[in-house]
Amino acid sequence: MISKSNIHTHCTYCDGKNTVEEMIQAALDLGFESIGFSSHAVGVSVDGSCMKAERVDSYFNELEAMKIKYQQRIKIFKGLELELGYSKPDDRCDYTIGAVHFLDTPNGINNIDYSPSVQAKGIMDCGGPDAYARLYFETLVQRSMSQDYDIQAHFDLLTKFDEKNQHFTYNSSYRRYAFDALDALSKKNVIFEINTGAISRGYMTRAYPADFILERMAEKKLPIILSSDAHSASALACCFDETEQRLRSFGFTSMMKLTDNGFVETAL
Ligand SMILES: [Zn+2]
Ligand SMILES: [Zn+2]
Repeated sequence: MISKSNIHTHCTYCDGKNTVEEMIQAALDLGFESIGFSSHAVGVSVDGSCMKAERVDSYFNELEAMKIKYQQRIKIFKGLELELGYSKPDDRCDYTIGAVHFLDTPNGINNIDYSPSVQAKGIMDCGGPDAYARLYFETLVQRSMSQDYDIQAHFDLLTKFDEKNQHFTYNSSYRRYAFDALDALSKKNVIFEINTGAISRGYMTRAYPADFILERMAEKKLPIILSSDAHSASALACCFDETEQRLRSFGFTSMMKLTDNGFVETAL
């Protein structure tokens, strides 16, 4: 495992299972050189996963205190996973992750990654998988243009419950929606996240994104970063080894890493 860091993590300030310090301890046990916290920022609260507004100050205060407490042993970065178009950035962040978890369907807000049945209802409300996929990728681009952030989270999150392609067949129109979104986002200078989060939750056997998207990312030499979107300490480095191998097999030779001087390229 080359990666000695994960900066897409959740703790008990949002919907994660472990405390900040338990996550740090797990990072130390793995021999990590850094860990970043990216709690779901205050935003759309359809499923209650985001941080409560009254806890935001304690979140940053605790991270600052931990940064000092552990400064000899591990670097700690303060971040937020922003719900694009809904969450506000915060000056106290060292970095931000931009994500879309909700779609505006003709029948109201649909939570993309909450459960297979909730997503299935959204697909029906949109009139089918093709229209849902189109809405997803168009929304991703539209919302990403509304604010600045460093990392593009889980590019094809809509496939979380669909590894066997029951809804999304990756046909030519799906590919066009995905590639159009990738082209638009690549002009924004964001780092694309390779996210193993659906593996630890038992929904997938590989990281986002799908092979054909990864192939295009490699061709375009887009900057990438590996994360596990950990919602528990045990998932902190979930499938990093095999995912690094997958990335190398697609021709990636480097990844981005967050340092005190910002993001730098590091060999893969
Ligand atoms: Zn997310
Ligand atoms: Zn996340």
